[in-house]
Amino acid sequence: MPPDRTSFFKDNFQFIYSLILIVFIPVAIVVNTLWGIQNTQKNMDYELQRKATLAEEVFDGAVANSLENDATIQTIIDQIQKSGSEVKEITVLKPQQEEGFLVIASSETKNLGLIYKSLHNAAVWVEDQPIATLGSDTGVTPPERYWTVISPLKDSSGDKKALVDMKVSLKDIDILTQKNLSQSMIILVVTVFFVLLLLVNHFRFFEYAVLFRRLKEVDQMKDDFISIASHEMKTPMAGIKGYLSMILEGVSGKIDQKAKDHVEKAFANVKRLDVLVNELLDVSRLEQGRIQFDMQPIDLTTTVKQVIEELKVKADEKRLTIQYQEMPESHPKIFADPDRIAQILDNIIGNAIKYTFKGGIQIYHQIDQENLKIIIKDSGVGMTPEDRKRLFEKFYRIRTKQTQDVPGTGLGLWITRELIHRQNGEVYVDSMVNIGSQFTIVFPIIEEKK
Ligand code: ADP
Repeated sequence: MPPDRTSFFKDNFQFIYSLILIVFIPVAIVVNTLWGIQNTQKNMDYELQRKATLAEEVFDGAVANSLENDATIQTIIDQIQKSGSEVKEITVLKPQQEEGFLVIASSETKNLGLIYKSLHNAAVWVEDQPIATLGSDTGVTPPERYWTVISPLKDSSGDKKALVDMKVSLKDIDILTQKNLSQSMIILVVTVFFVLLLLVNHFRFFEYAVLFRRLKEVDQMKDDFISIASHEMKTPMAGIKGYLSMILEGVSGKIDQKAKDHVEKAFANVKRLDVLVNELLDVSRLEQGRIQFDMQPIDLTTTVKQVIEELKVKADEKRLTIQYQEMPESHPKIFADPDRIAQILDNIIGNAIKYTFKGGIQIYHQIDQENLKIIIKDSGVGMTPEDRKRLFEKFYRIRTKQTQDVPGTGLGLWITRELIHRQNGEVYVDSMVNIGSQFTIVFPIIEEKK
């Protein structure tokens, strides 16, 4: 079967998401920094070009009245050079007959008298428009960049007389940019490092998330397994119980005493198994919220009496007394499911009988403005404060010499407490080793009175 792509992405969404973050965030930071630096440099270059053009305009103003006098122009150029500005080179050229341009003044005195036949110069002269070009001097390291601006020089009456070729150096700006670049790179590396650290941490959280999801899945599988297995066990067990009881009742013919003893043992064991299966089913129903409560106003006295009646045989077998102090004639009711209340009482009174070996069990009520309490007190084995804390945990059983032969699963009290909570009740325990235990179940009372 081809692998299911949607489920692959669904299952690995967290992983792919983290991977995208790890690649995307550092790349975004790097691109943003480089783009920022490049933009700043571009803006500075154009700013300088503007400055170069302005310098030419100022120069034009300075020489407008002296364009016929080459020596004065040379003096002005020398003064500009001495002031140590960003202007690297200034050359003033005048057109010649043979379409070339003669250098009449220059910061580079060796060029004086030379004739340039440059297309740029010709274009500026004909178009009467300045031209700016970005060039670089590769003869020095690092290469020095500069703007070359050529523009026409006009006299005070506006007549074109010469050309000025001015080179403005970008050296200072380039040094500044390089410094900024180095600083930005250091900040970039540190930022990327911390972002990566954060993302690696994110990966760890992602691992926990995956683990948590797996645990939940396994837990769900366990719940499903218990639910299905216990459900499937119920029918065959009912069959076994039915046939064994038929044998014991003599329906299938007469059996001798030895066989009867064996069948009785088998019957008792199947009943224990039945209790376990029922408890497992209750646990899974409670955990999955599948238990329905048929809530109604109920008279607790009736339910307590019914449960005592059913458990009396067990108490009698152990020669234990059960004393029930009923409520006065007019007593409040509680709002609960009668069958679930019977299940709760069956477990707590049943436990009191199971874990008591002499004396007996007392059951009575306490009523106040808001609550009705059922108190079940026994003179049994009791328990330590440590055991009392863990009493309602699933599968928790107190193992002592006295209780080691008492059958049980350790699920009863967990189920009982859940059932009490879901009917808005609460349960408390007081106990002392070898003195006895007292279970108090509290339910809110409802207005209606008997
Ligand atoms: P079990 O099936 O083992 O009785 P429960 O959840 O009903 O499971 O009870 C958990 C444990 O609490 C028991 O194993 C027992 O050790 C202890 N326990 C419960 N009720 C009493 C009691 N009345 N007196 C002493 N110990 C008790």
